[in-house]
Amino acid sequence: MKIRRGWTLALVVLALLAGAVLALLMGRTSGELAELVAEGSHKTLREPMRPARGAPRVLVFALDGVGADELEAVIRGGRARNLAHLLGKPRRGEPGVYRHAYAAPGVLSILPSTTYAAWTSLFTGEPAGRTGVPGNEWFAREEDRFYAPAPVSVTEHTHALQVYSDQLMGRVTRVPTLYERAGVRTYLSLASLQRGADLVAIPDGTTFGSLVSAFAEGVGKEEAKRDAYAAVDEGGARSLLEAIGKYGVADLQVVYFPGIDLWTHVARNPLAQERAYVETVVDSAVGQVLDAYRRRGALRGTYVVFVADHGHTPVMDDSAHALGTDGPDEPPAVLRRAGFRVRPFELEVSDGERDYQAVVAYQGAMAYVYLADRSSCPRPKDRCDWRRPPRMNEDVLPVARAFDAASRTGAGVPGLRGTLDLVFAREPRPFGTDAAPYQVWDGQRLVPIAEYLRAHPRPDLVDLQRRMDGLATGPYGNHAGDVLLLARTGPQLPIRQRYYFSGRYHSWHGSPSDQDSRIPLVVALPGGDGRQLRQQVRAAVGEHPGQLDVTRLILALLGRPLPAAAPAR
Ligand SMILES: [Zn+2]
Repeated sequence: MKIRRGWTLALVVLALLAGAVLALLMGRTSGELAELVAEGSHKTLREPMRPARGAPRVLVFALDGVGADELEAVIRGGRARNLAHLLGKPRRGEPGVYRHAYAAPGVLSILPSTTYAAWTSLFTGEPAGRTGVPGNEWFAREEDRFYAPAPVSVTEHTHALQVYSDQLMGRVTRVPTLYERAGVRTYLSLASLQRGADLVAIPDGTTFGSLVSAFAEGVGKEEAKRDAYAAVDEGGARSLLEAIGKYGVADLQVVYFPGIDLWTHVARNPLAQERAYVETVVDSAVGQVLDAYRRRGALRGTYVVFVADHGHTPVMDDSAHALGTDGPDEPPAVLRRAGFRVRPFELEVSDGERDYQAVVAYQGAMAYVYLADRSSCPRPKDRCDWRRPPRMNEDVLPVARAFDAASRTGAGVPGLRGTLDLVFAREPRPFGTDAAPYQVWDGQRLVPIAEYLRAHPRPDLVDLQRRMDGLATGPYGNHAGDVLLLARTGPQLPIRQRYYFSGRYHSWHGSPSDQDSRIPLVVALPGGDGRQLRQQVRAAVGEHPGQLDVTRLILALLGRPLPAAAPAR
C-alpha cells in the first residue's frame, strides 16, 4: 500500500518555525510574519492591554493529547513534583478530591477528539457544528476553500504559520471566545485561538534557530524530535515568563503545550513516553510559571486548571494501518471508482484542477467526505457549484454504499477490507440552514444513530449520538462533510486491528472511544481545600461536566458567570 510518510502533522510546529525563517530568507514573507520573528517572544494583541484587576485569577495549563488516565498516572506516580505539591495528597474514599484540588470524573471531549476542533470548542464552549472548526483540516463548501491549520492529508504549512502570524483561528471561529466573554486581561502562551486575548507568547528567535537545525538534522531521530518539541513547549513558557516580567501577571492565563501531542504521535512507546515527557518537560515549565506567580504574591487567589483536548491510542506505524491519500488501496480510490473527480491533496489547487466533485479531509480516526451536486459539473473541467448541496440518491448514497462495501468485503479496493467501523451519511441541506444529523449506513439504509445503537449496542463508542450531533448539526455542521468515515480503532481491539486516516504514526486519536475522549479537568487552588473546590465546580457546571463546560467553569472561577440567556447546548 503506497502511502505518504507520516511526518506532516507531527512536524507542524517545526515546519512552522522553519517556514518562518525560510520565508524571511527568501524575502517573500508578509509584514506580520517578519514582525512575529523579529519581535520574538511575545506579541500584544490589544493596545492598550486591559488593566489587570487581580484575584480571583485563573491559570490554565492546556496539555495537548494527555488523556485523563495518563495525567492521573503522572500525578499518582509522584515524579511530577510541582504538580504533586500543587494538588497535595488524594483524599481516601473521596474520588477526585485532593488536598488542594478537585479532578472532575468522566469528562469527555467533543467529537472528533482531535486537536483543533477540541481546543476551539473548549475555549468557546460550543460544539464544532457551531464553531465552524470540525478538525485539524476541513473543507468550507460555502467558500469552496480547504483549511488545514494542522495539515493531515495535505503537506503545505501555510495555514499552520497563519495560526501564529495572522490569527487564522480567530478569523475562522464563528462564535465568541472565552477571552471575549471574560473581559479581563488575558495572556496566552502558544494557544492557537487568540481572538479577544491581550497578549500571546511564542518561542523566541534563538529557539526558532535551534529548532530549524534540529529539524534539518533530526528527521527520523526520535530523541532529536523529542528535544525539538520540548524546545517549543519550554520556549513558549520562557517567553511567557518574560512577558510576565515586563507586564505583571494576567487575570486569565492559558499556557499551551503543543509538544506533548506531537511527541506522543511519533514516540515508539507512546503512552509511557508521553507520561515521562509530562513528568519532566511539562512539570518543570508548570513549576516555573507557578514560581513567577509566587514571586509576585499572585499565587493565592489563582485557580490553576489542567485540561486537555483528547487522549491517545497506540497504533501500528505501517502503511497497512495508515489510511493515506495516494494509490489504489487508499480511501480516495473508492471515490474515483464511484466516478467522482477528487480534489488533489493540496492546500491550494490551480485553476485547471478546480473541477473536483469530491473533497476529503482527515482527522485521525475520522475522515470527512464532501460531495458536490454532480449535475452542476458533469464534464471534466466543469467547476462544481459547492454552494449547492449534493443530491441524496445520485451523489451521497453511492458513496456511502461504496465505502461500506469496500470495508465489508474489499469490493473495488481490497486494501480497505476491515478498515472501517461505521459509515455515516445524512440528508443534504443547503448552506444557511442547520445541517441534518448524521445517520448510520447499516448496509441497506440510513438509520438514526440511537436506533442503530439499540440494535447494535456499542458501549465502546461513548455518548456517540450527542457528540455526533454536536459535530454535525448547527449552522456549520456541513463542515463535517456529507459522508463521515469512522476508522476501526479503539483500545479494546488488538493493535493490528486499529486503523487511522493520515500518514504513519505510533499513536492517533479522534474517535469516540473512552481512551481518545476522556480528558482531565483538574482545578487546584494553592492553599485551598479540595472539598470546597468540588463544591465550586459542581455549582458552576454540575457533577458531570464535559469539554464544552470548561469555558463556563473558567468564567465562574473568575467571578464572571455567563448570563442566564447564554446559548443553549
Ligand atoms: Zn491534540
